Amino acid sequence: MKAIVVREFGEPEVMRLEELPNPVPGPGQVLVRIHAVGVNPVDHYIRKGAYARRPTLPYTPGVDAAGTIEARGSGVAMFSLGDRVYMTGTSEGAYGAYAEMAVCDLAHVYSLPDSVSFEQGAAVGVPYGTAYRALFQRAQAKPGEWVLVHGGSGGVGTAAIQLARAAGMVVLATAGTDRGLAQVSAVGATHAFNHRGTDYADQIMAATGGRGIDVILEMLANVNLNRDLGLLARNGRVIVIGNRGTVEIDPRQTMARDADIRGMILFNTSPREMAEIHAAVGAGLRDLTLRPVIGREFSLADARLAHEAVMSPGAHGKVVLTV
Ligand code: NAP
Repeated sequence: MKAIVVREFGEPEVMRLEELPNPVPGPGQVLVRIHAVGVNPVDHYIRKGAYARRPTLPYTPGVDAAGTIEARGSGVAMFSLGDRVYMTGTSEGAYGAYAEMAVCDLAHVYSLPDSVSFEQGAAVGVPYGTAYRALFQRAQAKPGEWVLVHGGSGGVGTAAIQLARAAGMVVLATAGTDRGLAQVSAVGATHAFNHRGTDYADQIMAATGGRGIDVILEMLANVNLNRDLGLLARNGRVIVIGNRGTVEIDPRQTMARDADIRGMILFNTSPREMAEIHAAVGAGLRDLTLRPVIGREFSLADARLAHEAVMSPGAHGKVVLTV
């Protein structure tokens, strides 16, 4: 099979398309024939060697993909050959998802409804998992609350808007381009603001009638965290999802509001919480309340360009590789 292989950490050029032996599923594993792969910012951090968890070299990047069941290991009763699935994670020590095939532990593989394309399926795992965990497991957001998705135009943001809207929250979102603003509105935000503007925080506060925001899902905390605190309502929570540096905050802003800053990383999700996430996301995919949006597509051979795209401003949905 063909797969992207990284033999040294570095710039996107270190990703090369190579021929590898077809993987074989072991007990409790399935072999997935991959049709589309989701490209996440973390794939870039890992390839660069800038992430805390570094794989052993050489490695094949990627955790999110969608495709069909090609083979089943011994003891696997779930799934039939040819079933449509999405996955988020392969097997410990196995090739990653930037490949024509991948061996996956059953716990990482979920049914993909016929109404969801493979490209959309590849956009589910990390983005919808992160958005669900941030909104429900970390923020404990409730119907009727006001939620600001700060960075709503990318993979996680799109998922968060749809999940919050479907759960009966009032959803505000930001983006950095006209195209991004149109998209956050199209997927369910009732108010859209440009985070490259100078007075958008005032506009957000005005849109709430001065009450403030209950939950902020933050994609770039090192830029926004201090301003976020000033936007919170009493008992408000900021969930730090994305961060690329340091920031000075005024802790006093949390005091009168009884406000919380809560970090999160998807990797900490327990198996029970992960099962909850994919039960909920699967239901949303089936009843069409959750519709992943594809922004840009590249071929597997052009993974390098996809990594440049995912780190560039002007997101409008998910970056995927087609295989
Ligand atoms: P993405 O698809 O590349 O989207 C990035 C988003 O950040 C876009 O909506 C972008 O908007 C927005 N953004 C850019 N500048 C911003 C600013 N000044 N203020 C607010 N938002 C801004 O990435 P993603 O997959 O959605 O991930 C978003 C972030 O979360 C990344 O940093 C990623 O590493 C992180 N993440 C964390 C976890 C976790 O477990 N904690 C999991 C997944 C992702 P424009 O392009 O329209 O400006």
